[in-house]
Amino acid sequence: MIYTPAKPPLTGETLETLTARLRERGEPAFRAQQILGWIYKKRARRWDDMTNLSKPLRLWLDETFELMPVALVLNQQSEDITDKLLLELADRSLIETVIIRAPQEGVGLDHSRKTICISTQVGCAMGCTFCASGLLGLKRDLNAGEIVAQLLQVCYREDARTPRARMELASFDNIVVMGMGEPLANYDNIIRALTIVNADWGLGFGARRITLSTSGLVPKILQLAEEPLGLRLAISLHGATDEVREKIMPVNRAYPLAQLLPAIRSFSEKHGRMVTLEFILIAEVNDALEQAEKLRDIALDLHAHVNLIPYNHVEGLAWQRPSITRQERFADILRAARVSVTLRREKGHDIDAACGQLRLKTEKERAPASV
Ligand code: SAH
Ligand code: SF4
Repeated sequence: MIYTPAKPPLTGETLETLTARLRERGEPAFRAQQILGWIYKKRARRWDDMTNLSKPLRLWLDETFELMPVALVLNQQSEDITDKLLLELADRSLIETVIIRAPQEGVGLDHSRKTICISTQVGCAMGCTFCASGLLGLKRDLNAGEIVAQLLQVCYREDARTPRARMELASFDNIVVMGMGEPLANYDNIIRALTIVNADWGLGFGARRITLSTSGLVPKILQLAEEPLGLRLAISLHGATDEVREKIMPVNRAYPLAQLLPAIRSFSEKHGRMVTLEFILIAEVNDALEQAEKLRDIALDLHAHVNLIPYNHVEGLAWQRPSITRQERFADILRAARVSVTLRREKGHDIDAACGQLRLKTEKERAPASV
């Protein structure tokens, strides 16, 4: 499962590591910042675009690093609300990055909330029974450069839409680490990547507008609480009792609620921010009103926000979303106790949960016999 690219991606280098590499070549200290500026601020797509670097240095860079480790293979747009980018890696693995434009009440698309959803692994090993990303198992972790490159691809995509003004990544409202994969199972790479995304010399995107979602790897949640980055945290709860949760999320056997809930508490105490509990509503699985009552108690106790997400149908899986009436009754139990709760309705939101499905479909078409 360890993948070593022929050349490491430049997008996985920090200012520190790149400076060290360049120093070995006798380059001055400012050179690394100059190169990173070309990549992230001026969006150079070829080494030869970096006109203030000497020819020998450009040659060395070309021999040493991959400038862009992911290639766009398909761009699927749905009603101008979501944009799915299917990206291919050097080993032909496929990942998805999704741009979601969720219109705000009463205003046009120009004023929509713009979110980018990124992937962290090819597939996923966690085996949640309802999820498309886990259906083919884990192929491999993404390296930091491949994670960062997804956001550069989004920038390229936006630049092409508005050719005159280069789009700043900061014009997006949020980045959510909710695409394919379990980010905390690829801990070092995701932290390095988000450090690059956050840094002034990198993409300059505020950490407080980045939400990382996890299925609940307790030791890693505790480790994340100690990171200086200051990310937001979302937990895929999906069951308010061990009995229900472990039926659909095998991770609950290793880290049951008695361990998970205190870990969430320590994270939010450390950061002074509300954690989000994600709860997909699946008919006949976790939509009983007793689950709503238990979830209400957990949310009140942790002072957490609850995000109720009607299940998105996955081809080949039998799960269904509950009726709207049932969804509302579930939400009402939380609302009645003044829990901060959202029940997703907008069309644009459907797509983020559907992350992983485009890749699944393409993998099936590529190798019908093996899946
Ligand atoms: N592995 C991480 C992040 C990626 S999954 C995690 O599990 O949190 C992002 C979110 O999409 C999770 O809350 C996940 O449970 C949810 N999800 C997966 N499949 C879904 C589906 N078919 N419908 C709705 N939400 C889904
Ligand atoms: Fe992996 Fe998250 Fe899907 Fe579970 S829900 S299989 S952890 S991507």
